[in-house]
Amino acid sequence: MINLTFHSPEEEIHYPPITDYGIQLFIKRDDLIHPFISGNKWRKLKHHLFKAENESKTHLVTFGGAFSNHILATAAAGAKFGFKTTAFVRGEEVQNPTLTFCKIFGMQLIFVDRTAYRHKQALYQSHFRENQEAYFIDEGGFGPEAELGCREIIQELQQSYNHIFCAAGTGATGAGIINEIHQQKLKTQFHLVPVLKGGNFLKDDIKPLLISDFPFHLHEDYHFGGYAKTTPQLIDFIKDFSSKTGVLVDPIYTGKVLFAIKDLASKNTFAKGSKILMIHTGGIFGTLGMLDKF
Ligand SMILES: *Cc1c(COP(=O)(O)O)cnc(C)c1O
Repeated sequence: MINLTFHSPEEEIHYPPITDYGIQLFIKRDDLIHPFISGNKWRKLKHHLFKAENESKTHLVTFGGAFSNHILATAAAGAKFGFKTTAFVRGEEVQNPTLTFCKIFGMQLIFVDRTAYRHKQALYQSHFRENQEAYFIDEGGFGPEAELGCREIIQELQQSYNHIFCAAGTGATGAGIINEIHQQKLKTQFHLVPVLKGGNFLKDDIKPLLISDFPFHLHEDYHFGGYAKTTPQLIDFIKDFSSKTGVLVDPIYTGKVLFAIKDLASKNTFAKGSKILMIHTGGIFGTLGMLDKF
C-alpha cells in the first residue's frame, strides 16, 4: 500500500526583516514530510506511484541532473514502496551526497552526455523498450500526475492567505497550486519564483497543466544568476534567516523564494496586515552540494 499521510503544518514565522513591514509570514512545512521524499517531491511522485502499481510496473525510471532532489526522492520512494529504480543522470560521472544517497537506496545510475540526455524518450526506449516492468517518469516528475498531487497543498490549508509564494523549476507544483486556488475560488494571489534565468518560458510550459488561463504573478528577478547559481548576498540572507528562525532553506530553491518575499516586502508590495504563506518545497540536499559557499 503506497501511502505517506502527512498534512504538513503551517507555522507562523517571526523574522523582522520581513514581518517588520506589518505583514504576517507563514511557512507550510512540506520539508517535514520525509527526509528524502521531501517537499513537493512526494506530492509530485504520489500519483505516478499509484499508476505504476495499478499497471503492475515494478521499476521506476526517471531523469535528472547530478543534484536532482527528484531522483533522490524517487530512489527513496522506490526503496520504501518496493520498486526498483533507475535514473539517467545528465553529464559525466561525478560523486556527490545526492548521488551517494541514491545508490544507498539501491538506485541504478546511468550517466549520459548532455546531447543524449535531451532525448529522454529515445534513451528510455534504448534501455527499456523490451522491459514490461519499467515505468517512465519525466525529469522532475513533470506532468499531469505531479500537478494533481500538488493541488493537495492548497486542499490542506488550515486558514486563508492573501498571498502564497512557491519556487518553480519545471512549474508543475505551481500549476497544481494555481488550479486548486481557482477551483476553490479563493481570493489568494499566487506568486511563482523561477529559480532559472529567463523564467518567462514557464508561462508556456505550464499552460498544458492549467485547467484554464488563470492569472498569477511571475517574479523573474530572483534567480541569482541561474539554476544552482548563488551570490554572497543570498548565502548571507540564508544564514541570517536560518539562525533567527530555526528553519533551513536551501540556496537553489527555497532561499530564493524567501529572498523574493523579503525584497518585495521592503518595497511595500503587500498591504499592511497581509498574510503571506511560503510553501517550503524541501530541497535541503541542495545545501550539501554547496557547502563550500557557506
Ligand atoms: C524540485 C523542486 C522545486 C521545483 O518544483 P517544480 O514542480 O519543478 O517547479 C522547488 N523546490 C524544491 C526544493 C525542489 O526540490
